[in-house]
Amino acid sequence: MAYRVGVIGGGQLARMMVPPAVHLGIDIRVLAENEGSSAAIAATAVGDYHDVDTVLAFARDVDVVTFDHEHVPQRVLRALVDAGVAVHPSPEALFVAQDKIVMRQRLTELGLPVPDWAAVHDPAELGAFLAEHGGQAVVKTARGGYDGKGVRVVRASSDADDWFAALAEDGNGGALLVEELVSFRRELAQLVARRPSGQIVPWPVVETVQRDGVCAEVFAPAPDSIGRVADVAEQIAYTVAESLGVTGVLAVELFETDDERLLINELAMRPHNTGHWSIDGSTTSQFEQHLRAVLDLPLGDTDMHHDWAVMINVLGGPTSGTLADRLPALMDDQPGVKVHDYGKDPRPGRKVGHVTVAGDDLDELVFRARAAAEFFEN
Ligand code: ADP
Repeated sequence: MAYRVGVIGGGQLARMMVPPAVHLGIDIRVLAENEGSSAAIAATAVGDYHDVDTVLAFARDVDVVTFDHEHVPQRVLRALVDAGVAVHPSPEALFVAQDKIVMRQRLTELGLPVPDWAAVHDPAELGAFLAEHGGQAVVKTARGGYDGKGVRVVRASSDADDWFAALAEDGNGGALLVEELVSFRRELAQLVARRPSGQIVPWPVVETVQRDGVCAEVFAPAPDSIGRVADVAEQIAYTVAESLGVTGVLAVELFETDDERLLINELAMRPHNTGHWSIDGSTTSQFEQHLRAVLDLPLGDTDMHHDWAVMINVLGGPTSGTLADRLPALMDDQPGVKVHDYGKDPRPGRKVGHVTVAGDDLDELVFRARAAAEFFEN
């Protein structure tokens, strides 16, 4: 019988798991938040992932449950495990990715390099951290943030009053994460995949360019990274994956500081925007590898087809019409560009697709990929 994978969440990450599932004969099903989701090209149930009965019913017909996002509550994850469902990554691993304070605590316990940080409960504690860090810092909400929402540079203890007020309203005694404003030369991401039985396979470390907290461009591999940077990044990701028992794809977002250290910014335990280039640039894409890993199948090679791959997000989409309307002209103009359309309605700032170009001349690839992405955004 075919392997059956259930994905909770109907976004573009679930959507991009569908082609490799089809190729491998894997029966993939999605539990989406609403009708017409990006992943609705697969067999899709619509339901609320906060509801235990809905998720248990969805899980009945699959061999393993995995995720398009990390927001499924722990009580739902535990109910799945209690019912004997295979869940990858596990609730214990996901717990660390769900809360930025827990993440900083665990990484610190593991002796891994992170920015200076503290959990702060009120403006006075924030003020104390600012005083110790040159009067500037980055405050983050512990939960629910994505694409830079929930991240703010602060220079006064009153700069996060609204978030402290929201915490007080919740009444859970929660805290905000505050960390040093890292002076970085660039941002990197190290992706690996790990099977439950332990095999780990990395991709090359990549450079990521963020705009307004959103991943905009990715260069694979990160220029000038061969040697120390690549080795340290890989070592960090292996330690995280093994120590936390991560299964499936793990993305470790890193800062390369001006004084040449690597610090961990974030962890994601699922395919990640910084790995999209692998669909067109690597023997095994992150989406195929994630499916193989969560099914505990042997992992694929991750060598690159060319020296470089450049991935650029299409943000917002065309001011009129859809990506599809512009495809013929783009295909005619740039037959070497790979276009990925997430089937979403254009909306300012929204990730509606991405383009990838692979080849041997990085400058030329960047030029072509930017031109293609811009063609879809105007
Ligand atoms: P999200 O979870 O919303 O993606 P991140 O924590 O990854 O948020 O932060 C988004 C972006 O904000 C990062 O990619 C980086 O550019 C910037 N950033 C985050 N933390 C820091 C920091 N401590 N110092 C400097 N820049 C930061």
